[in-house]
Amino acid sequence: MNENEYLQQVATLAGLQHYPQQGPWGRKSGSAVGTRDGYMTAVGFSRNREGARVVILLRFKKIEQPELVKSAVKSAAIKKGKLGAVGNNFLRWEWKYSFTKPKPEEVAKLAEELRTAIKPVTMGFDGRCEQCASASTPSLTLMNGLPTFICAGCQENVRHELNQAAVNYEAITPNYPNGLVLGIGAAALGGLAWGLVAYAINYIFLYGAILIGYFVAGGVLKGTGKVTRLGQIIIPILTIASVLFGDAIFYTLIVMKHQHVPFSGKLLNAIVVHLVDIESKGSGVLSLLFGLVGAGYALYSARKPKFQAVFQPLGAPNA
Ligand SMILES: [Zn+2]
Repeated sequence: MNENEYLQQVATLAGLQHYPQQGPWGRKSGSAVGTRDGYMTAVGFSRNREGARVVILLRFKKIEQPELVKSAVKSAAIKKGKLGAVGNNFLRWEWKYSFTKPKPEEVAKLAEELRTAIKPVTMGFDGRCEQCASASTPSLTLMNGLPTFICAGCQENVRHELNQAAVNYEAITPNYPNGLVLGIGAAALGGLAWGLVAYAINYIFLYGAILIGYFVAGGVLKGTGKVTRLGQIIIPILTIASVLFGDAIFYTLIVMKHQHVPFSGKLLNAIVVHLVDIESKGSGVLSLLFGLVGAGYALYSARKPKFQAVFQPLGAPNA
């Protein structure tokens, strides 16, 4: 049974409706969505590095203490799957599987069990907008894929607020000196750690470069206060410099060990001067490559934040 047929079945069994291409998980198979006793219920597939999961999302009226929801499902002692997350208006339950999908009947039953478990401590929606709690809002709207009860007026407000957030972000004056100082600091520390670890395990590894990339990007962005073109140029340069600096530390430690000489600035300097020579004989190309991958990750993590809300009616994926 493919994902589409599967979700179709789950929808039928759980009293929901299947919407291909729509819903929170951004997959072609979409999700089964509906409201039962006022509780928004969405079921879909989600895949990540850890494997495949069937996810059940329940949403309810905002509450003050999400802890209550957590303890309610805990004391219900539900056997299938496990708690993914709880927020002040949602519960996410995840059922991991490796080859065979869980039976649709069991997933439908699980959704009901979860709803029953949280009913004593939560309230379902009542046909009004969940933001302003006044405008009549009988049908669900997807906000960036998430099914919500939101009236036209509140949709407009959300759009307006996000636009304002984007304008405010643009208005931040980037502090480049700060960014450079923090970026160089991060690169120096990262390089030192890279060199020491490489020496300790006698091996240069890829994750180190990626970590350095993140570290440097974090430093530069904290300093400048926002993502800018110049920052995006500085980050990979500092990342590569940091990896090379780490290599210099690594080779310095090697020389110290084999020649039985103490650390000195002179020695480090000599290594740095001859780094190109040394690198071309050793694993320099590999280091540089790792550095570039690290820089790539760093740039990816340092994208501009998105200030956008897309509202879409259920059942109209191209609207
Ligand atoms: Zn509203």
